[in-house]
Amino acid sequence: MSFTALSFDQLASLLGSRTRASAARRWLYRGGAIPSELPARIPGVAKVAWEAVRIAAPLPAWRLARREAAADGTVKYALDLAGATVETVLIPSKGRSTVCVSSQAGCSRACTFCATATLGLLRPLDAGEILLQYAVAAAEAPAGSPVRNVVFMGMGEPMDNLDPVLEAIDRLLEAPWPGLSAAHVTVSTSGVLPGMKRFLREGRGHLALSLNATTDAQRQQLIPHNRTWPIAALIGALREDRAIHPGRRSFIEYVLWDGVNDSDDDVARLAALLEGLDAQVNLTPHNAFPASGLRPPSDEAVRRFQRGLRACGVNSIVRWPRGRDIAAACGQLAGRSATASVEV
Ligand code: SAH
Repeated sequence: MSFTALSFDQLASLLGSRTRASAARRWLYRGGAIPSELPARIPGVAKVAWEAVRIAAPLPAWRLARREAAADGTVKYALDLAGATVETVLIPSKGRSTVCVSSQAGCSRACTFCATATLGLLRPLDAGEILLQYAVAAAEAPAGSPVRNVVFMGMGEPMDNLDPVLEAIDRLLEAPWPGLSAAHVTVSTSGVLPGMKRFLREGRGHLALSLNATTDAQRQQLIPHNRTWPIAALIGALREDRAIHPGRRSFIEYVLWDGVNDSDDDVARLAALLEGLDAQVNLTPHNAFPASGLRPPSDEAVRRFQRGLRACGVNSIVRWPRGRDIAAACGQLAGRSATASVEV
């Protein structure tokens, strides 16, 4: 068991009091930069009690391999976790920041448009390693923009590593620290149906489905496992969930590619698929990476797609890329960097 994965109750029992457990959590999530190993002392915890934690639950083995800051304030961290490199992104915005975490080193899926897929699966991450990513990035959130949102949209397919993902979410929601709200946690899936159904049943937080296409023929070319779990089954699961949790909103991720899925017919098919779902569509123009033959549509074509959806009564936002200059945008996480990177 690692320190970051300990539940509040486990921490309290190791430390002998809930007050000390709070102090330890405060140190982890409000104490500044995360060291590579637990220090000999932390504020508010008696030395002997802390010593027990240091022995029973050390930090996950980690090292900052690279840190890059983009012109727009986005920061990408490459963390070496016991030999496997994963990437984590801090995305500051006005008054709040978002941390994008990885659920696997590499990815178990083979989406043709995603840079991470080129790595294959290196290994799954445990809950402590997911939480460590959060802590490292959150420690650097600008003053006045604390981290409020966590998205599981880094490397990896969360539904292929669901137990650690659910455990990490439980920890993220524990008060007083980090104490995030479930409404501010989003797990994104490429459509791995069994995991998706389980997340909808048991998971806390929002689910985002990376739909990315409006016909199975089209989606299969982009996301090979669409052959196993086609569009109708995925949307069907969202509809079933809506019947059980009427208040829960569905999020649909839709990456736009020039000449592939950005036509007026796509607008009409997407609107028909989402009929009655009260879904929000997050449109992301493709972020390019070497060896991807795909191109994003022009900004005007993206806006036209959005206007088309609106005319059909479908709500959407456009995720204009953040951190593209350091290859930190969606789908670009594959251990690449800009020339101005800082090796540490
Ligand atoms: N495996 C999960 C989570 C990681 S990807 C999933 O697929 O949902 C996070 C988001 O980035 C997904 O919505 C995915 O469709 C999107 N994405 C992948 N490659 C992209 C690219 N090259 N440009 C823009 N978005 C991309």
